Amino acid sequence: MIPMPVMILSGGLDSTTLLWKLCLEGKRVYALTFDYGQRHRREIEHAKKIVKKAKEVGFEVYHEVVDISSISHLISSGALTGNESVPHGFYTDERQKVTVVPNRNMIMLSIAAGYAVKMGESEVYYAAHKSDYAIYPDCRKEFVKALDSAIYLATIFTPVELKAPFVDMTKAEVVSLGLKLKVPYELTWSCYEGRDRPCLKCGTCLERTEAFLLNKVKDPLLTESEWEIAVKEYRKYEKEDKQKTISN
Ligand SMILES: [Zn+2]
Repeated sequence: MIPMPVMILSGGLDSTTLLWKLCLEGKRVYALTFDYGQRHRREIEHAKKIVKKAKEVGFEVYHEVVDISSISHLISSGALTGNESVPHGFYTDERQKVTVVPNRNMIMLSIAAGYAVKMGESEVYYAAHKSDYAIYPDCRKEFVKALDSAIYLATIFTPVELKAPFVDMTKAEVVSLGLKLKVPYELTWSCYEGRDRPCLKCGTCLERTEAFLLNKVKDPLLTESEWEIAVKEYRKYEKEDKQKTISN
């Protein structure tokens, strides 16, 4: 039997790269996309488009959108689900902490682990990577290790393993891999603002621009003129960030 891992697909760069990696390894995949009342609900639509594309290229993906929005008021009032505005600037900036949805990944992974048991599968994947360490504690290696042990103990009669293959990679390294795997990045969505087009100024937009810049390619989601603006914004915040580091 071919293993069919369960994975969390947000519709962003990292989880889409993970989906392509698993499918290219010959796996069939159960992909879960969570609706937790996020302001950037557009990513859910993008996740659907990504799965459609995956099926078109011959991958076997079963997709579920899991609605946990009824608990969003219990877990957050931050910038992603509440009324606070999304801060502009780099991820590493203290201001970005308002974009943390407390314990979000553990909630989603816990549901994914239960789903894996139900489907008779033994692996859950998610696309945590090194660039998110600074402000998202539930993307850190220590968290992955601890949750892997907890999930194992909780499912001990039909054990499930938690895997985060990008945990030692930066976002640019994930994108570098994805470019080789021909991931359809034009279908992915990152911006935290809930607008029609990416704002190009929020932490996740800047991080995305940086990942493509370091790979010396244009972000395929953007038009040429949007890309020009994205690079300018990135350079502007990069300069600010350097000045701040010097003055500290
Ligand atoms: Zn943005």
